[in-house]
Amino acid sequence: MPSVVESPSRSVSQADCLALDERDPLKHLKDRFDLPEGVIYLDGNSLGALPKSVKPRLAKAINEEWGKGLIRSWNDAGWYPAPKRAGEAIARLIGADRDEVIVCDSISVNLFKLLIAALRKRPERKIIVSEKGNFPTDVYINAEAAELMGCELRCVEPGDVQAAIEEAGDGLALLQLTHVHYKTGAIYDMAGLTRTVQKLGGLVIWDLAHSAGTLPVDLNGCRADFAVGCGYKYLNGGPGAPAFVFVARHHLPDLHQPIAGWHGHARPFAFAQDYAPHAGIEKMLAGTSPQLSLIALEEALTVFDGVDMQVLRAKNRTLGDLFIQLVDQELGAFGFELASPRESAERGSQVSLTHPQGYAIVQALIARGIIGDFRAPDILRFGFAAPYVGYEDIWNAIAALKDIMATGVWDQPQFHARQAVT
Ligand SMILES: *Cc1c(COP(=O)(O)O)cnc(C)c1O
Repeated sequence: MPSVVESPSRSVSQADCLALDERDPLKHLKDRFDLPEGVIYLDGNSLGALPKSVKPRLAKAINEEWGKGLIRSWNDAGWYPAPKRAGEAIARLIGADRDEVIVCDSISVNLFKLLIAALRKRPERKIIVSEKGNFPTDVYINAEAAELMGCELRCVEPGDVQAAIEEAGDGLALLQLTHVHYKTGAIYDMAGLTRTVQKLGGLVIWDLAHSAGTLPVDLNGCRADFAVGCGYKYLNGGPGAPAFVFVARHHLPDLHQPIAGWHGHARPFAFAQDYAPHAGIEKMLAGTSPQLSLIALEEALTVFDGVDMQVLRAKNRTLGDLFIQLVDQELGAFGFELASPRESAERGSQVSLTHPQGYAIVQALIARGIIGDFRAPDILRFGFAAPYVGYEDIWNAIAALKDIMATGVWDQPQFHARQAVT
């Protein structure tokens, strides 16, 4: 791992971090967010921060569009095409064409639609490969789809994915993986795995929950088939914001997704008895969108206006490198282990540490306004959303962590009490 300071032999100082902030080409983006005073927010990988412009946009949506426009706003305020517009804004961030992405439902629901649709394209094949330790909803939905379609789900260790694909051979229907692992931040080789699976005649569904908005995903460059992704993490759409779904254009014509709701119909307002799917990506819609959440997400996406994703990616790599370098430099005595790849090219926009007392340590950090999160059994997760996290924030977070450990503050009883959401 290269040092974030010129001379790798000397230690990193607070002044180095300030100098990095000074030179940061994205430092102006923090101003687009409404972050509380005294908080260092390292949890944009779970719930993105609030973009300033979302507040007036939602106020307008509630007061004028809903309050005064009422049902007319589906037409007059452009509500009806909002899922498509938000999809177009996301397309640029994930290397898709504008007519291949739409915003709707949750990842869980969209994954179900894609799984069944993809398996229907490969009726003679009966094996789904996924990862042991994939995000739980992905595993549960994979299992359910497998059962419904008479398939076998093979969840294997991350290092065994390639072998499992080869073993499945021409029985392989599809591979479903999360591109950037939610716990470790490890990145799968999207281009390579997609190629391998497609050579065998299978299909791939990528979950971009921890990729979209953090690294320049290149779905079409990788000839990806299908993908889903999250609206409320790095895309900052707000709690429970709808997710997005990508279908490569060439898969659309005969794609048959199972939640055939009226918004996916070619002519929803014909109120026809028989279902006729929309020809475009709109066929992935089911019912009416949570319109206020969708409007919030659409507005939040303007945070990325004019942002070069390569530059943003370079910043989160350096933030992660700095964090790891400071963990090594400052926290050696306290029993933390690195649970993420040390090499930033192999790591998404987060660094995870393990510690047997991880839960209490994270609570003690949160009590000081440094917000990360905990993932059972022992992972402390720190997300570096480059639009609003700076280098001095990393310095301050590590300094607080060191103090919490050195003084034993983490061991106070209130930090051991488990809450419902970690
Ligand atoms: C956050 C996350 C989800 C969330 O799914 P929803 O159904 O939208 O709540 C799914 N998969 C991964 C990998 C995630 O990180």
